[in-house]
Amino acid sequence: MKSYRKELWFNTTSRRQYINITPEVEECLAESGISEGFVLCNAMHITASVFINDDESGLHNDFEVWLEKLAPEKPYSQYQHNGFEDNADAHLKRSVMGREVVVAVTGGKLDFGPWEQIFYGEFDGKRKKRVLVKIIGE
Ligand code: ZN
Repeated sequence: MKSYRKELWFNTTSRRQYINITPEVEECLAESGISEGFVLCNAMHITASVFINDDESGLHNDFEVWLEKLAPEKPYSQYQHNGFEDNADAHLKRSVMGREVVVAVTGGKLDFGPWEQIFYGEFDGKRKKRVLVKIIGE
C-alpha cells in the first residue's frame, strides 16, 4: 500500500470565505501516483471546514446567510467562548459544515458524483491555516 501526505496552506483576505480546492487535491493525487484508494481531506483548525458541494456562487451566499442565522458573528458578547477571542461563531459554523471529506479514488481520478467539488470553508480567516490531504491505496 502506498501512502501520501501533504498540507495545503491558506490565508484568506476576509473572515469568511469558500475556496474550491479540488484542483489542489487533484494535483496531490497525481503526485501520489495512487490510482485505487481513498483521499482524506480535513481542516487542521477548529474554526474552518472542508466540505463537498456545488461550485455555485448563489449557493455559497446562501450558506453565508444561513450560517449567520444559526450562529451570528455579532454581538460577540452573546457567546461564553468570547472571553479572550471573538470567534465562537466560527467554531459553531465549522461544526455545522464539518471537519473533513473522504473521496474514493478510481482509475487515478477522484470518483465524484455529478457537480461534487471540494471546498475549504474559512470562518475565522485573515491568518495562515492548513488543510491536510492524506491519500492511501495502490
Ligand atoms: Zn476560539
